Amino acid sequence: MKIAALDGGRVALIDEDELIDVSELVGARPGEWPPVGGVRAIATFAANPPKREDLANLPRIPLGGTRLECPLPWPNKVIAFPANYHAHIDEMRAANALISPKPASGQGFFLKANSSLSGPFDGIVLPDLPGREVHHECELALIIGKGGRDISRDAAMDHLFGYACLVDFVVRGKEERVMRKSFDTFCPLGPWIVSADEIADHRDIDLQLKVNGELRQSANTRDLIVDIPGMIAMASSVMTLQPGDVIASGTPAGVGPVHEGDEVTISITGVGAMRLRVIQGSSGRHPVWAPPTTKE
Ligand code: MN
Repeated sequence: MKIAALDGGRVALIDEDELIDVSELVGARPGEWPPVGGVRAIATFAANPPKREDLANLPRIPLGGTRLECPLPWPNKVIAFPANYHAHIDEMRAANALISPKPASGQGFFLKANSSLSGPFDGIVLPDLPGREVHHECELALIIGKGGRDISRDAAMDHLFGYACLVDFVVRGKEERVMRKSFDTFCPLGPWIVSADEIADHRDIDLQLKVNGELRQSANTRDLIVDIPGMIAMASSVMTLQPGDVIASGTPAGVGPVHEGDEVTISITGVGAMRLRVIQGSSGRHPVWAPPTTKE
């Protein structure tokens, strides 16, 4: 099953080259605020996967030419794992001797603002911060289906609904991480959500990211430090997971800057691909980003 969003919050299942509009089935109301149709769809289908007869008479829309939106614009939370591939930890140490990130297994996770979520056709809007670099981080997104607290490793996969492509964009620097990672459009998610049953082995998922056609990041989930059941277990030891929660699983090596006009392509085998345009925005200036005037 692939769940997509379109037309101001309609929710649809992808059936080959068509979209089946399931908005009414899951109680999604296009144009509603808050836009929680995607969360309703995940909660509904995690409990009761749609049957063929449920879908037989629903409206169908051609997929071609449809402008898909972020499938989950309003989850309860976006959890993100830092330093979850050894090769990325090595490259961060090499770039800055002062930075010595602990692996996610001993550091845990952080949160990224939900409002940074954007869709496959929204573009990445760079803040107006002259001299600062914005980096791409190619990540597999985990989408929680059934919620819960204190979920064991053994039970974790029962709580996973599926996967999506996610790029964790970040302004590099020493300011608070949540602020550097939470600009609007800094968390593109999509192009749809693929249910977990469509992926044969969660320990063998290839992901890659290109900038202007040039391969920058290439990895496989077998190299995760904290694996997928481990991430669900760790996150749920702290907070109750809700249907539709997003977990960004961490970036592999190869992060680097993006600039206005760049085209960033993320593709994950069995999940999908997104081609994202990088646009220069005019927002974001604030004294907090000024270089320090005195030595700390
Ligand atoms: Mn990241």
